Amino acid sequence: MPNLNLREQLAGLHELQQIDIKILALHRKLESAPLKIKKLGEGLQIYEKQLNTKEEALSQAGKEQRSKTAQLEMEQEQRGKYQSQLRGVKTNKEYQALDKEISFLQEKEAEIEDEILASMLLVDQLKEELQQQQKVIDTEKAKNKIQKGECEKEIENFKAEIALHQEERKRFFSKVDRNLMNKCQEWLKRNGTGFVSLVIDNACSSCRITIPPQILKESRKYERIMFCPICKRILYPLPPSASDEVPTDEEASS
Ligand SMILES: [Zn+2]
Repeated sequence: MPNLNLREQLAGLHELQQIDIKILALHRKLESAPLKIKKLGEGLQIYEKQLNTKEEALSQAGKEQRSKTAQLEMEQEQRGKYQSQLRGVKTNKEYQALDKEISFLQEKEAEIEDEILASMLLVDQLKEELQQQQKVIDTEKAKNKIQKGECEKEIENFKAEIALHQEERKRFFSKVDRNLMNKCQEWLKRNGTGFVSLVIDNACSSCRITIPPQILKESRKYERIMFCPICKRILYPLPPSASDEVPTDEEASS
């Protein structure tokens, strides 16, 4: 007479295992969620860094423009002085010398004016680029906010699902041996797979090895726990009613 208690226990353990696998998968998702959120922030940081570089360039171009403008004013002032002096000169030689200085300063001023113009163009260009960059960041921030919200919602859902499964597994506490249950949990934590392996078509469904006839026969008696000789998992041959849909070779030939 089959030990119904063991058969029921194996059925319970297998069912519990399905729940525990789901819980484990949810925990893994939960663990990777903060990393996902962190990565979202990192993407934004790159854009912000680019923005800072441009802001620095703009500040530098502004300084350059102000410095050149100050230099131009100085040259203009100096030229003004020479031009006043020009009205008071007595000799032709003095006149020529001053005139030469004035021409030199005029050339220099023209050069500085070109440089100022270039600076102004650069400032305008950088301002335009900064505006574009800010738009990109704003869009990215808005996108991030939505994605972060989704991630957080996902985390809440994972937690709720876990709680639900935890509640679900409570109903097995009275049906399954605690010691056996703990062993299954330890195996699952260590290997990430179930400790109870279904016997399908006379084979261990986990490692696919065909189970030696003697072990198979023993396991079907449900008198004591039988282990797969290869993967060392607990063998659980589905009871006849459950395995009707998938008849084993032995049953098909009998
Ligand atoms: Zn196996």
